[in-house]
Amino acid sequence: SADLDRSNDRYLHHTVQSLFSLKGKVIVITGGARGIGLAFGIAVAEAGGDVAVLDVLETPHEHFSKLQNDYGVKVKLYKTDVTKFEILKATFDEVVEDFGRIDGCVAAAGICPDQPFLERSPEAVARCFDINITGVFFTAQLAAAQMVRQKPTEFNPKGGSVILIGSVAAYQASKAQYLSDYCSSKGAVLSMARELAVELADRNVRVNSISPGYMMTDMTLAISDTRPGLAKIFVNEPPMKRMGDRTDLKGACVYLLSDASAYHTGDDLLITGGIHAGR
Ligand code: NDP
Repeated sequence: SADLDRSNDRYLHHTVQSLFSLKGKVIVITGGARGIGLAFGIAVAEAGGDVAVLDVLETPHEHFSKLQNDYGVKVKLYKTDVTKFEILKATFDEVVEDFGRIDGCVAAAGICPDQPFLERSPEAVARCFDINITGVFFTAQLAAAQMVRQKPTEFNPKGGSVILIGSVAAYQASKAQYLSDYCSSKGAVLSMARELAVELADRNVRVNSISPGYMMTDMTLAISDTRPGLAKIFVNEPPMKRMGDRTDLKGACVYLLSDASAYHTGDDLLITGGIHAGR
């Protein structure tokens, strides 16, 4: 039809390497001082992007200076708290002052309480929802507000990308763990991602989530230390018969932050070694 822009064909000549590159893009990662968030930061730097890490921890990981040296990118840690809107807003303002813009954001800060439903105290449940839901909401809101304000650039002609970190626990109850408030919070995160994706779709901001299965981090190591037998389940439950390595998530993160996924929004990428397909 006459309404179709046939010059779209010119994009066929954009190479895969250039589509996946994060060169010139500024990516904010909450919870990036360690765990899964740290792996995301490393992935972004390796793909050429600058990284602003937002975390309650204040000691920069030894990897940060190595990444700056090896890849010529800027990596900076900001001590903040995703549950405190005013503090978090001030941190985002500082990031924009330091880096000039925000092209992508990964909301990876989270906690995973593991205690029977009937024993969860009101304070403990509130804390879980505060970090895992409200903190993710505030993070996405502040990132998207900046992305909507920005003009497209040479490095970012297609707008911003927000990734919320869900979990396979949002889909299936675990026989091995007590995750009542955690599962509830992750279900909320997945619904949030879909809603934000639709609200922001025509404002140049894409929103997706990544739902990992059992990944080897301090979080899962701490839980398996306190519960004999859990480590075996972490390894044997996935049809692939191994826990996820954090590097298993790097490709999905770079893909969703880059122009390679420019037409991809409102989705959840399940990276679980097959758990979601069947245990
Ligand atoms: P980690 O505990 O290793 O890392 C989480 C990071 O977030 C920590 O540095 C933590 O600091 C920080 N953090 C906690 N609260 C806040 C806050 N209020 N403000 C800012 N930063 C905060 O966890 P993982 O890397 O394992 O998990 C990251 C995300 O991935 C979480 O959302 C988790 O639910 C999700 N996930 C993890 C899976 C796994 O198997 N590991 C599986 C599925 C999902 P501190 O610890 O000092 O409080």
